[in-house]
Amino acid sequence: MNIAYSYVRFSSGEQAKGDSERRQTAKFESYCQRNGLTPAAVGFTDRGRSGYKSEHLNDTGELRRFLRLIESGEIEPGSTLVVESLDRLGRQDVEEAFGVFSSILGAGVRIVTLGDGEGEREYVKGGGMVPLIMSILEMSRAHGESKRKADLVGAAMLQKQSLARSNMVPMGNVCPLWLRPKQAWRDYATDGSAYEEIPDKADVVRRVFEMAINGRGREVIAKTLNLEGVPSFKGKTWGTSSIDKILKNRAVMGEYQPKTVQGASNGKRVNAGDAIANYYPAVVTVETFYRAVSAIEARRTAKATKQSLEFNVWQGVAKCENCFGALHVVNKGLPPKGRTYIHCCNARKGLCNAKSVRLDQSEAVFRGMLVRLGASELVKDSSVQIEKQLKATEGKLIDARKRLQSLEVLLMENPDSPTIGRVVARAEVDVVSLERDYEKLKADLATEEGVGWDTFFERLDLVSYEGRAKANALLKRLGVTVQIGASGYAVKERDTVSFEMEFRDGEAGYLLQKGKFEAVSTFIPVSQVGRWSAAEHAAQMQYEAIEDEGQFAGEY
Ligand SMILES: [Zn+2]
Repeated sequence: MNIAYSYVRFSSGEQAKGDSERRQTAKFESYCQRNGLTPAAVGFTDRGRSGYKSEHLNDTGELRRFLRLIESGEIEPGSTLVVESLDRLGRQDVEEAFGVFSSILGAGVRIVTLGDGEGEREYVKGGGMVPLIMSILEMSRAHGESKRKADLVGAAMLQKQSLARSNMVPMGNVCPLWLRPKQAWRDYATDGSAYEEIPDKADVVRRVFEMAINGRGREVIAKTLNLEGVPSFKGKTWGTSSIDKILKNRAVMGEYQPKTVQGASNGKRVNAGDAIANYYPAVVTVETFYRAVSAIEARRTAKATKQSLEFNVWQGVAKCENCFGALHVVNKGLPPKGRTYIHCCNARKGLCNAKSVRLDQSEAVFRGMLVRLGASELVKDSSVQIEKQLKATEGKLIDARKRLQSLEVLLMENPDSPTIGRVVARAEVDVVSLERDYEKLKADLATEEGVGWDTFFERLDLVSYEGRAKANALLKRLGVTVQIGASGYAVKERDTVSFEMEFRDGEAGYLLQKGKFEAVSTFIPVSQVGRWSAAEHAAQMQYEAIEDEGQFAGEY
């Protein structure tokens, strides 16, 4: 049976003109009648799909479905595909369009084009060179037309963007969703700005930033707005991604980032040049924007630290004092009743009778141990961080000052322009706030020199994953192992016991033997390490004095 399938495609632009679908369908029916073909019950239609971007060949496209049905054999050889013209099969590159074309012919399906008054054309497998060459010419013309159109649109856009950059000329009606073009935006040159806030929506933007600065996450912000019945800018409900888009959109501070489409077929939008500052009215200040950025960043790191407690600082360092087996972290029950312990791996197998040690207590000992081991390198790189920030701020400050300078020149040339006046004022604010940041960082860096024990504990990061991993790596590098058990903590450096520690009366501390011959050692809590180091120093001096004399001072 000779079945004819109609394939109809029109892009959204053509669709808007209205009669495209009706026209193509009417032609199809008349063709079938004239040629004694049975029209298939259901045709294939791609509405609003651009052939230029190959959208009709997406997985959801009807042409793709047609090709699949040919493959599966449901559309049989000898059938006919009827299209208005070959450009309906695509306006992509000729190679791609021809690929589609020849794969249909190759499966034994005829292609008939009804033509635009030029008469019908029929293409079949083995139909000779002339129709093939004609088809290629036709497809190449279709692609060329579309490319020319796309190029023209692109060129007009570039022209607009360049005017926006040089003269702040409005881009037209397209602007951020919380703004609208002023009624008489073409008068922007005398008026100063082309866009104005939509008060309700701009307020929503400000609230989103305020909530973010106050530590609310995107989910909570979206939920709050939805609970209050505030519609999203597109009239729907709020979701994390719409909140995210606002928080990351530099247009809230008035920046406009020109974009361009990269490559005609994939349609990816990329930045075209630098952003244009102060192009839109700012609905939040630069400071607010960055405070929100850092609040979001802080939330992100806080999230990371919660999980990072899973890094065991004792890993590869702690040994069971009975059997020298490795100590593992084990959870016994759920908090608050249950606790986390470190436990001998052999005891778990019943091969060792060592008791488990509470993890929190052992970590207090761990901190104290780092002090004694002179692990000050663990706290030093905060100054590296500050120096990095200082460099970055300095760079920003130089840029901001340069910008201010050139704007001031502009203002001198146009002393009556309120726009330029406002822009200069904003640029001044930028410079002042950067100067403030710069001074603060410099002060921070100054206090960084000379870290005392107090500062050491304050700075020591055993919370973040990186901090914990770094402390653990340092101990391994120093060749430190710690034997842990009922008798406390024996800290060994390269297999020799350096000192001993204990957890006693709710505190970690050092066991100090005052003299070589004293049997009972003294417990010095870590919190008193400052006083203790002075005492130790004195004791050491006294001890050395005895050694020097070769006998006890008292026997003299
Ligand atoms: Zn053991």
